[in-house]
Amino acid sequence: MPKPVLMTVDDDPGVSRSVARDLRRRYGQDHRIVRAESGRDALDALRELVLRGEPVAAILADYRMPGMNGIEFLEQAMDIVPDARRALLTAYADTDAAIRAINVVDVDHYLLKPWDPPEEKLYPVIDALLDTWRTVGVRPVEQVRVIGHRWSAESFAARDFLARNSVPYRWYSCDEPEGARLLSAAGASPDQVPLLITPDGTTLVAPSDAQIATACGLTTDPTGEFYDLVVIGGGPAGLGSAVYGASEGLRTVLVERTATGGQAGQSSRIENYLGFPDGVSGAQLTDRARRQATKFGAELLTARDVVALEARGSARVVRFGDGSEIAAHAVVLATGVSYRSLDAPGIAELTGRGVYYGSAATEAPACAGKDVYIIGGANSAGQAAVFFSRHASTVTLLVRGPSLEASMSHYLIKQLDAIENVVVRTRTEVAEACGDGHLERLVLSDRETGEKRSVDADAMFVFIGAAPRTEWLDGVVARDARGFVRTGPDLVVDGKRPSGWPLERDPYHLESSVPGVFVAGDARAESVKRVASAVGEGAMAVTLVHRYLAEQ
Ligand SMILES: Cc1cc2nc3c(=O)[nH]c(=O)nc-3n(C[C@H](O)[C@H](O)[C@H](O)COP(=O)(O)OP(=O)(O)OC[C@H]3O[C@@H](n4cnc5c(N)ncnc54)[C@H](O)[C@@H]3O)c2cc1C
Repeated sequence: MPKPVLMTVDDDPGVSRSVARDLRRRYGQDHRIVRAESGRDALDALRELVLRGEPVAAILADYRMPGMNGIEFLEQAMDIVPDARRALLTAYADTDAAIRAINVVDVDHYLLKPWDPPEEKLYPVIDALLDTWRTVGVRPVEQVRVIGHRWSAESFAARDFLARNSVPYRWYSCDEPEGARLLSAAGASPDQVPLLITPDGTTLVAPSDAQIATACGLTTDPTGEFYDLVVIGGGPAGLGSAVYGASEGLRTVLVERTATGGQAGQSSRIENYLGFPDGVSGAQLTDRARRQATKFGAELLTARDVVALEARGSARVVRFGDGSEIAAHAVVLATGVSYRSLDAPGIAELTGRGVYYGSAATEAPACAGKDVYIIGGANSAGQAAVFFSRHASTVTLLVRGPSLEASMSHYLIKQLDAIENVVVRTRTEVAEACGDGHLERLVLSDRETGEKRSVDADAMFVFIGAAPRTEWLDGVVARDARGFVRTGPDLVVDGKRPSGWPLERDPYHLESSVPGVFVAGDARAESVKRVASAVGEGAMAVTLVHRYLAEQ
């Protein structure tokens, strides 16, 4: 593997040279030090490094640079080298502005000029950046190649899976000469897409998520058979439980069906999570949480579906889709909710072919100059409209109700008002989706008059609420009529504990009808559907796990 790159960006040639000199002195033997004197030059250099397959470990950027300041540069650099750790170099006078902007680009550290002596001020910061990068940034796969068709639902699913798991990949359409060449070299035909090629040349034809995960170096198998705590679901609640469980000494494994981050990981910008006054993207929040959980020693398994839960004596046994099992003293169910599907003719056939559930960020570049429709009136739909307005020619938000006020936060309504290419259509629903192999048109229906009209549409993103997918827990834990898992005081009706409850105490606050099985986040009946509450419940569940374990 080529030496990892440490990049320094500063418009002042003197400062730039002296940072590079200090870095070379300490890190030169094992790293390549790359110097740039403007944000634009640095972005070009990063693109070239990526093409040449050279890993970028860390970037140290000056805040005050003409043309493109350090924050703007780092924001763009994140798209090119998402794993590289980031530090900002600021003068004392700029500290406030830098701190305000820090959350926008998820800067790991900021450093004050001058950084003398480097042993005290510069090297500890760079050491920390490199440590973090080594833990999470070095993947055995540098770049996976995905060959597929723009309108193949399976190709979309493979790209979405890679993107949500932060695995870098390069996309080739099988209509392009290079895509066609790769397909024929692998002996595959265009109707067998997607084809994945790993850097070591392994080819996977129409692979499952689990096959992609294994080939891309994601952890899919547990190291043990018995744990203190199994967390099911890797959204904010599950990650919260994994961080608190592992940091408090519990042997913890988290099992995630698709990609850590859950719904929050798909949010383009979460504005109301405490501590992030400028908002934070779901991907950044997830990346930080994942790093934090692994730092404390939690095992995170990806692309593993839990299909059954069973109490065997004091053990809580969790079965995977392939029939294998692990067991634990306690379980936290953090399986959240999944998008509800839109019921209209044409939708099912065109899903993944112009119709998408959730914000499907991988589709953003393909929406450039196109007409995009977003369905839904809640915050998630509002965020998506803001996000796609930066890419699409027009964004139309379709809302069934008479206004957004009842369902969307005031700050988002104000943001949408101010964006010129966003139109909100209330009292409107989709009656049909049409197209030959991919979405081309929508038939919209006015809910008041019943009048229908057909509009051209290139892409439609659906956000119409969500439902828990807890059918596999039927007959195991008590659930409400909508499938949310009931917990704590909710389970005690007229002073009676749930049937089969074996203990001489009531269920703890987040405990289900099976002792030692706790529930956190959106999957819990009567829960608040928020990132903060999911994380809080994840942490609280671990405290209750300790209380439960103390009784054993
Ligand atoms: C687009 C969007 C934007 C949002 N914006 C905001 C916002 O700005 N502020 C805010 O506070 N909230 C926001 N929310 C809501 C917030 O994201 C959720 O409340 C939060 O993610 C709930 O966390 P959770 O961990 O309970 O569940 P989820 O995030 O739903 O995660 C559950 C995880 O469990 C996995 N899973 C499910 N079943 C299984 C199984 N059987 N085996 C293995 N894994 C399984 C799923 O794949 C998923 O990753 C937004 C939601 C969306 C969709």
